[in-house]
Amino acid sequence: MTANPIFSSLGTTIFEVMSRLANEHGAVNLGQGFPEGLEPAFLVEAAARAMAKGPHQYPPMLGVPALRQAVAEHDKRFYDIDLDWQREVMVTSGATEALADCLFGLITPGDEVVVLEPFYDSYLPIIRRAGGGARIVRLNPPDWTLPREELAAAFGPKTRLMILNSPMNPTGKLFGDDDLAFMADLLIKHDAVAICDEVYEHLTYGGKRHIPLMTLPGMRERTLRIGSAGKTFSVTGWKVGYVTGAAELLQPVIRAHQFITFTTPPALQQAVAEGLATGDDYYKTLTSDLERRRDFLAAGLAGAGFDVLPCDGSYFLTADIRPLGFSDDGEFCRQLISGKGVAAIPVSAFYESDPPRHFARFCFAKLDETLEEAVRRLRA
Ligand code: PMP
Ligand code: GLN
Repeated sequence: MTANPIFSSLGTTIFEVMSRLANEHGAVNLGQGFPEGLEPAFLVEAAARAMAKGPHQYPPMLGVPALRQAVAEHDKRFYDIDLDWQREVMVTSGATEALADCLFGLITPGDEVVVLEPFYDSYLPIIRRAGGGARIVRLNPPDWTLPREELAAAFGPKTRLMILNSPMNPTGKLFGDDDLAFMADLLIKHDAVAICDEVYEHLTYGGKRHIPLMTLPGMRERTLRIGSAGKTFSVTGWKVGYVTGAAELLQPVIRAHQFITFTTPPALQQAVAEGLATGDDYYKTLTSDLERRRDFLAAGLAGAGFDVLPCDGSYFLTADIRPLGFSDDGEFCRQLISGKGVAAIPVSAFYESDPPRHFARFCFAKLDETLEEAVRRLRA
């Protein structure tokens, strides 16, 4: 059978592979990034109410008005971004769909897309399937610093887009003012568009705040910002996301969306609308809860002999496995599951080629007892 080579040459995503292995071995799953025990009861009740009440038919293609308004109000409240909810907000079935819509909607074959490595695994296949070429710029661990000269060199006459993921998966990096200003200059100079994957926007630690690239001078008209209720409300299985941006920029993205999913379940949209409007306490508690879990797991990993890298945002800690005598992250993660009963993700999976092989990623968005059990097993 012939199949499209871009997809058929790929294996199953590392997240699915590791979750399946974790199940088989009864391992504590700190691999795939999904939270445990953080789902807000008020949100689940809102969804149940909306589900009982209906409607159950196709909602408007751009999303139910209540959610589009709530996204616009959220962006005003947290970032002072003014959005026209009718023309500048679109609801998607998760951030993954939003990313695909943006890439399919904006790439003309031959365009180049600048991507920072390590990156989330859906970016490259979709860029390529859309006919784009990826210009990959690698961040330097342990601080995941941005090599500015290399970034500047990756931009050229064919550059159409840059994808920026901040707070970043898997590194936990939060890009600061200086890096953002440097990127904005390049994007303006090359008349390129930024696709900002900001699914972890509310998960930042140590008093640091996430700054959307869209808020920098000159960026409002050339940025698409993507969020995910899965992360903001700890309900990754719901697959409710949103993309916001200038009407003209969003238009081709809407065209792609109408043929990819067209809509998202209305009851879940209604519940997320209520969620986004909730008071600041919810957001503060989410952050402080996760920060406490981050610190607990970081101490546990350090106690087990890992070199733990800094993490200012996201669900993830990255740890250097070399102090434990390992130099192959894939091998390490397989042994960790079968030998210790703990699942992690090899960071090499976030690279295109020739990756560093000495980092493993651990998700800390878990119940205290889960993290305690993981640490107990790692130390044993
Ligand atoms: N971008 C990044 C960086 C992610 O880590 C994830 C999540 N898992 C997504 C996008 C996809 O989010 P969603 O589950 O809303 O599709
Ligand atoms: N983004 C999540 C992670 O990094 C997983 C998403 C998925 O399983 N596709 O673990």
